[in-house]
Amino acid sequence: MEHKIAVIPGDGIGPAIVAEACKVLDAAAAKFGFGLCYTELLMGGASIDVHGVPLTDETIETAKASEAVLMGSIGGDAKTSPWYKLEPQLRPEAGLLKIRKSLNLFANLRPAYLYEELRAACPLRDEIIGEGFDMMIMRELTGGLYFGARQTVEENGVRKATDTLDYSENEIRRIAIKGFEIARKRRKKVCSVDKANVLDSSRLWRAVVEEVGKDYPDVELSHMLVDNCAMQLVRDPAQFDVILTENMFGDILSDEASMVTGSIGMLSSASLNETKFGLYEPSHGSAPDIAGKGIANPIATVLSAAMMLRYSLDLDEAADAIEAAVKQVLKEGYRTGDIMSEGCTLVGTKEMGDLIAARV
Ligand code: NAD
Repeated sequence: MEHKIAVIPGDGIGPAIVAEACKVLDAAAAKFGFGLCYTELLMGGASIDVHGVPLTDETIETAKASEAVLMGSIGGDAKTSPWYKLEPQLRPEAGLLKIRKSLNLFANLRPAYLYEELRAACPLRDEIIGEGFDMMIMRELTGGLYFGARQTVEENGVRKATDTLDYSENEIRRIAIKGFEIARKRRKKVCSVDKANVLDSSRLWRAVVEEVGKDYPDVELSHMLVDNCAMQLVRDPAQFDVILTENMFGDILSDEASMVTGSIGMLSSASLNETKFGLYEPSHGSAPDIAGKGIANPIATVLSAAMMLRYSLDLDEAADAIEAAVKQVLKEGYRTGDIMSEGCTLVGTKEMGDLIAARV
């Protein structure tokens, strides 16, 4: 079977890391007997240079007609790039917001996994790290405080600002379902994070997650207050499997969770809609400071591609093989500059891609 994948290389290191991810995907396709048909699309600065806008309607339509989108990263150096002299709605990042909205991507997934070989990059103490950790932060992406009504007014000479945090039960239910489904592909534990001791929106969140949980008796559901979760992430990260939470809490907790892994070049991500469709991209940016040097770490993009196989194409075995190949390469001591440590072998972007592809 041939799967239709839209590929957005983007800007900066984007094209180089996406090329390596496709190389690894092709190796998995050859091994596990499936086909991948890539359609390359322009977005961000690359699209501005050709079309004058960061995202065209045709790009959105082609993305929608695919089973998944694999993306590098977009954007340039805000101080020197001419893209940042344009109106805000014409800058590279505007394309990013528009594609997420157009594709209705409401569930953001960010794994935080500690590779034994990269233990030294983890800022936590050895006894806290223990046997390591492997969690998935699942963040609601299109509702809550960032999308509610807001205003700033002046009353009797005093400025006053208001932001609204609202969620409907439908918005909560659809992400809760995703959370339980994802947990079923992992260790079958969901920790729903809220502030139900204070916020009405959180009390509704908890009630709806409880309701959805009844349909997943095989998945263990627990609840945690967000302030406690922020502490637990650095006290005992191994306790978590899937953390399910609303937009702003997820924004903060996903950054905290990724920092405890310590390596920006290793962090993958996915954004999903109600169907199997998803957009997969590394968590890092386009790293204009190292673009064109052949030294960027392609692993975050390779791992995003593995997530694509697992969550959009249900090719779990192939996803496992890619993740195992990454582990193997690290175990053999190969490192790009960003994760280099003493006694290891320094390799560039392309070499890292070749090494992973060969071990799939
Ligand atoms: P960045 O993530 O691009 O870079 C931060 C630092 O990490 C840099 O020193 C960079 O060299 C390094 N780095 C990042 N990825 C790496 C990799 N794979 N291998 C080795 N080193 C890596 O963040 P920034 O510098 O703040 O942003 C640069 C541009 O990226 C901006 O235009 C920003 O808007 C954009 N951006 C895009 C996305 C996206 O496409 N989703 C996300 C974040 C930032």
